[in-house]
Amino acid sequence: MKRRSDWVDLTGQKVGKLTVLNSVGRTSQHGQERWQCQCECGQQALVYAGQLLKPPFREYCSRDCPLRPKRPTFLKKERYCWYKAMIKARQEGVPFHAQWRKFEAFLAAVGKAPILT
Ligand SMILES: [Zn+2]
Repeated sequence: MKRRSDWVDLTGQKVGKLTVLNSVGRTSQHGQERWQCQCECGQQALVYAGQLLKPPFREYCSRDCPLRPKRPTFLKKERYCWYKAMIKARQEGVPFHAQWRKFEAFLAAVGKAPILT
């Protein structure tokens, strides 16, 4: 098989949590080399050369990789409740517990919202 001059051997390269194992060849659809990669989470993934060579680098096997940091949607629902409670207290002229002006204190008193499935 004839290699293009811009072909780069990525075998053994590490990109984030991925280690490149071997090439699985070009796909006719995109004309890009694809590489079999081993992720540190134990899963394997096929990754296009471009995703390994150019930023933003693909650093995980998939979007659902357990090693991938989650977006900070941290306690969004609880923060909203806290905000609403403060507004409501002000509207009704009820004094809002001074300690609860800190979200962390409010959360400690009320607890986390149940996760609805
Ligand atoms: Zn992974």
